[in-house]
This record gives sequence, structure tokens and C-alpha cells, in this order.
Amino acid sequence: MSRPASIHDPGIVPLLSALLAGTPKLDGARCIERPDLFDPRDRGEPLKAARARHQQAAALCDSCPSVALCRAWAATQPRELHRAVVGGIRPRLAGEHTTPAPQLIGA
Ligand code: SF4
Repeated sequence: MSRPASIHDPGIVPLLSALLAGTPKLDGARCIERPDLFDPRDRGEPLKAARARHQQAAALCDSCPSVALCRAWAATQPRELHRAVVGGIRPRLAGEHTTPAPQLIGA
């Protein structure tokens, strides 16, 4: 069931424009190939599986031409974003005792 339109509702385009304001253009972003790899750990997802998935995501970031721009942008974002893999940086998962070291750009 959809919500009825309101004259006070600005609509999806202005809403998306506001949400995406300041988001850099990430040419050649590799994450669009497998966005599922980058997601935060699912509830019930085994630690080992999430870690392996995030390592695959970070490997894609390592070959992404926009990794430096992405990483700089990510540093300005709320903590919530950092539950996912962004800019080659993997989150520390519940059950891990250390924060994974970020991959070196171009290493
Ligand atoms: S660095 Fe990683 S998260 Fe950022 S745009 Fe590239 S592939 Fe996506």
C-alpha cells in the first residue's frame, strides 16, 4: 500500500538530490559489480563468512580508480557507514579483537 501524495511532499527527486548532495562522482567504481560484498554483516551471518566477503570487497576497492576520493569522502560520513566496506576499509566485526588494517592504495 503506497502513501498518498501530499502537496507538502517534495517528491523523490528533491529528496534524493538532498541525500546525494556532496557525494563525489566515483568514476569506475568497482563496487557496482558486486554491491552485496560491501554490505554490513548480516544478522546471523557467520563471522568467517562476513570477513571473507569483506576481504573480497576490499580487493575490489584496491583496483578501483576512485579509491582515494572514496576514502576521503567516507572519512566525512557518519559512523553508521563504517559498518560496511568503503574505500577499501573493512569494518571491525563483532567477535574480532582488532580493527582490520586498511589496504594500501595500489599495493
Ligand atoms: S573504493 Fe571501493 S567503495 Fe569506494 S567507489 Fe571504489 S569500489 Fe566502491
